Amino acid sequence: MDTSDSPAQLAAATLAVTAGRPERTQGAPVNPPVVLSSTYVSTREPGPELLYARYATETWSPLEEAVAALEGAELPGLVFSSGMAAVDAALRLAAPGTAIVVPRHAYLATLTAAREQAEREGSVVREVDIADTAAVAAALAPADGVPAGLLWIESPTNPMLEVADIPALVAAARLAGARTVVDNTFATPLAQRPLAHGADVVVHSATKYLAGHSDVLLGVAVTDDPDLRARLHARRTTGGAVAGPWEAWLALRGLRTLALRVDRSQASALELAGRLAADPRVVQVVHPGLPSHPQHTRAAALMTGFGSVLTLRPVGGATAADALTEAVRLWVPATSLGGVESTLERRRRLAAEAPTVPTDLLRLSVGIEDVADLWADLDQALDVATGR
Ligand SMILES: *Cc1c(COP(=O)(O)O)cnc(C)c1O
Repeated sequence: MDTSDSPAQLAAATLAVTAGRPERTQGAPVNPPVVLSSTYVSTREPGPELLYARYATETWSPLEEAVAALEGAELPGLVFSSGMAAVDAALRLAAPGTAIVVPRHAYLATLTAAREQAEREGSVVREVDIADTAAVAAALAPADGVPAGLLWIESPTNPMLEVADIPALVAAARLAGARTVVDNTFATPLAQRPLAHGADVVVHSATKYLAGHSDVLLGVAVTDDPDLRARLHARRTTGGAVAGPWEAWLALRGLRTLALRVDRSQASALELAGRLAADPRVVQVVHPGLPSHPQHTRAAALMTGFGSVLTLRPVGGATAADALTEAVRLWVPATSLGGVESTLERRRRLAAEAPTVPTDLLRLSVGIEDVADLWADLDQALDVATGR
């Protein structure tokens, strides 16, 4: 598109298609090319042009522009080799000797990375219920002489789907002098734009919805603060967790259909959650779109979509949950989420999962298949698993 247009004026569904395209000149390709080169011709003192492919590449930039446009950022994002590489770089924005406030239910590797960093740097990790705004504010207050350095928000959380009051938490973090990072993987920028609520940094596992086809691992960080962006960029360059050109290109290719995929999977998730909530073979269903969700009103007010993940606890406990993952034929029993195919897993089969996650909890990531087919498969699998 013509970059003189203000991209902020366009809807996210349009930006997903138009952002990060090559300039419109006669004979120019419609899609950015994949450039396979580790180095670039250089004779004099390097200026802004490309120098070496660990610093920046022309295959990353279109994706970095597109994700920034979707998140409403002016500055381009930063592509990393995985979501965890982006998470790691963002966690390092916390000054040594400070407190990192994290959701007690968050992506497991994020919690591990925060704990390891705290150990290494003499910081502390304070785990909170991110849906409890007062509890988060209390955790942000200095304790034992340790001030808060960073507030990490995931919303909805993995896998409990707690919904944070992002504007209120950002304000509380500001007051405490802490930066705020939001992992926006579960919501996607279609449902939630944390930078507009004042968050300092947004990170994504682009492996999930942004790329959307379970065929690539990739991460992105987005910020409008030039200093923070420089620090994230420096970490990427020295840490070396850089994306391959094919991965970046595949992610951009997947991103073009983000709105279609997310619209479909969110609608199906809501439909399935509603059916399951009324099903006698089910003990509990959690989805932010259900009126029974403890933060449903908050989600409805702050988000423009409820996400495509739901959790389900079948009658019969963990045994029935395991049986269900073996009885499904269409749903794929696998970890991860955000792909075109629907997946499900019993979380507590993973030894590292938080003990507060019920042992019988299945996390379902709804894909883009026909919702009637998804329901029919769950229906037969529930019969098998619960013996009803
Ligand atoms: C998957 C995921 C990550 C980690 O991303 P990878 O691409 O697997 O490294 C971080 N946060 C959330 C919420 C995720 O779902």
